Amino acid sequence: MKTIRLKPGKERSLLRHHPWVFRGAIDRGRADVGETVRVESADGRFLAWGAYAPSSNIRVRVWSFEETERIDAAFFERRLSAAVALRERLAIDSDGVRLVHGESDGLPGLVVDRYGDTLVAQFGSSGAERHKSAIADALLRVTGLTRLYERSDTAVRQLEGLPPVTGWLRGDGPTACVIHENGWRLSLDVAEGHKTGYYLDQRDSRRDFAQLVRRFGVGEVLNCYSYTGGFTLAALAGGARHVTSIDSSGPALARAQHNVILNGYDAARCTFIDADVNASLRAFLAQGRRFDAIVLDPPKLAPSAAHLERAARAYKDVNRLGFKLLNPGGVLLTYSCSGAVGVELFQKIVASAAHEAGVDAAILARQGSAPDHPTGLAFPEGEYLKGLVVWRRP
Ligand code: SAH
Repeated sequence: MKTIRLKPGKERSLLRHHPWVFRGAIDRGRADVGETVRVESADGRFLAWGAYAPSSNIRVRVWSFEETERIDAAFFERRLSAAVALRERLAIDSDGVRLVHGESDGLPGLVVDRYGDTLVAQFGSSGAERHKSAIADALLRVTGLTRLYERSDTAVRQLEGLPPVTGWLRGDGPTACVIHENGWRLSLDVAEGHKTGYYLDQRDSRRDFAQLVRRFGVGEVLNCYSYTGGFTLAALAGGARHVTSIDSSGPALARAQHNVILNGYDAARCTFIDADVNASLRAFLAQGRRFDAIVLDPPKLAPSAAHLERAARAYKDVNRLGFKLLNPGGVLLTYSCSGAVGVELFQKIVASAAHEAGVDAAILARQGSAPDHPTGLAFPEGEYLKGLVVWRRP
């Protein structure tokens, strides 16, 4: 077993069970890609077992803080069982569920989603990559399923020096599935969709949106960055008269349109626009269009803290346009999935957007990722999605 010795004082975050060791914290020691190492303090005390990643800034990702634990097939089966058992207790109103959420489930770099009877995994770290086969076998045993598709095509793999890999890892068959979320049917494709196929993290926000549309008697809805129409279906289910969905991905919009029909809604209640959101909002403004509810769920605009300033401006711009297009008494659901933009900063951005739009508004609710995307208390980096439900005073 190879040992990684930390510099004096660098053991503190590990003692608090933060699962990463950065390059700069290491005094000496090295290992192969994904190899299990013993991490110890400058005075030789055991701190953790972790996976070594020679080319990543995050040089070690911790598997376990227990000295007696062995990182073997049984270890992965234990961790996976615990993660799956949690989801069973959460009584999620969908058969599209995140079963494993990386570090926050004690499995750094590993993401596993279940869509009906299809599992989809992302191996986003050298350690997860190294143990892929044991993890795949354990996943099938723990879930009782037989089909596992690999979507290891995330950007983070490049940082770990790993090539993109996609395809069936266990079993095979069609990559298209239909899940049942909050009572709606949603088609997706695990090979072609974003992430593993769908944005499961927004499940509860979509459910809440349907209720809000109903309670507020919302008529005209604008769903920006609609992807495959999750919020569009929520609006239709809530009784909205008409929903306009905008996305710059043609295939995502085609699927959104298909999803509307799949749920038996009248296609005449919907308009789909394949365009840039900013440009569309400006055009609507020029045309004098207004909406009773607007959803703004942009992609990650701040990939890292270095992009923060530009991202903050981009969030403010689109939110200002959103507020301007909102009827008095209307609601804006606005999100940021940038980890670098904290809850407080996001609220400030939205507040200044409202101010610049000349709108008086109040927060009705705060939202975040659904509970099958937990955040380890020792791992605040895992927190990324935040949302505000904002009401424009009449
Ligand atoms: N709300 C969706 C998820 C949105 S993900 C859901 O509930 O499933 C963000 C979406 O923004 C993606 O579908 C992406 O294609 C789209 N997108 C990214 N940049 C865009 C832009 N400039 N204009 C319009 N859509 C954009």
